[in-house]
Amino acid sequence: VIVITPALRPAPSPEAIAKATGERGLARAIVAALLAPVALLGSQLAELLARRDPDPGRVIDWSLMRRRLLRAVRGPLGTEAERGARDAVRDIRAAFDLVPSRAVAVAESHAGDLVAGITDEARAALRTIIARSQREGRSVEATAADVRQVLGLNRRYAQAVANRRRVLEAELVPPGRADALVDAYRARLLDTQATSVARTELARSSNLGALEGYRQAVEAGALSPDFVREWVTAREDGRLCPVCRPLNGVQVVGLDAMFATALGPVLTPPAHANCRCRMVAIARNE
Ligand SMILES: [Zn+2]
Repeated sequence: VIVITPALRPAPSPEAIAKATGERGLARAIVAALLAPVALLGSQLAELLARRDPDPGRVIDWSLMRRRLLRAVRGPLGTEAERGARDAVRDIRAAFDLVPSRAVAVAESHAGDLVAGITDEARAALRTIIARSQREGRSVEATAADVRQVLGLNRRYAQAVANRRRVLEAELVPPGRADALVDAYRARLLDTQATSVARTELARSSNLGALEGYRQAVEAGALSPDFVREWVTAREDGRLCPVCRPLNGVQVVGLDAMFATALGPVLTPPAHANCRCRMVAIARNE
């Protein structure tokens, strides 16, 4: 059986991942980590299809993938949390010895949840593809193409790639050309998705760091415990997003209370993908 191994970007070295900084670097590291299972799947697809069990768990080492992804995101998110904590303490003009490692720890524990979510989604997508191939007797090549088409993409983007392929087929675009177009489209969506995850999670880390800064300021007696946090909507482009507009300058909550957003309660911004909102602490007048 000839297996068409999907075109791959090489997996990044641990050193390269460790050096990932900022939105761009983090996005690139996330993409690389998301594509890693394709390489692990490689030539074992035939064996996997011959089984009754659609779960590629024994072929793909998900714990390895989780570790890889965690390594990609932990450093940058921890750094951002520390920065968020320092900025928050500076903004409230509190003078005390901040313990930045506590902010980093908060971000890292969130990073673990994020990584688990991404990994679970990839696992579910693969299982769906393999189960379908087993059910319909699809070839290894067709299955490999399916895997390449969706792996690493969230459901909405995976669907968009499938739609693009259908349109190209309906337009009778030659298969080789269609493959190349779909591949380029997929790569672009993967990059968009990873950039969005990177931006959103950096924002979350920054805000979780700020929250930890407030917490420590209260503990140190440098901030009154009845202070409130106010939601501040970013308006870099002059527009307020519909999710956050109603919150801007209106919602104030205490240290551990949740903001009520249109998409549900959140402890800190962001409220949605690509949200750039932040919060400010306001001490109550004595
Ligand atoms: Zn927002």
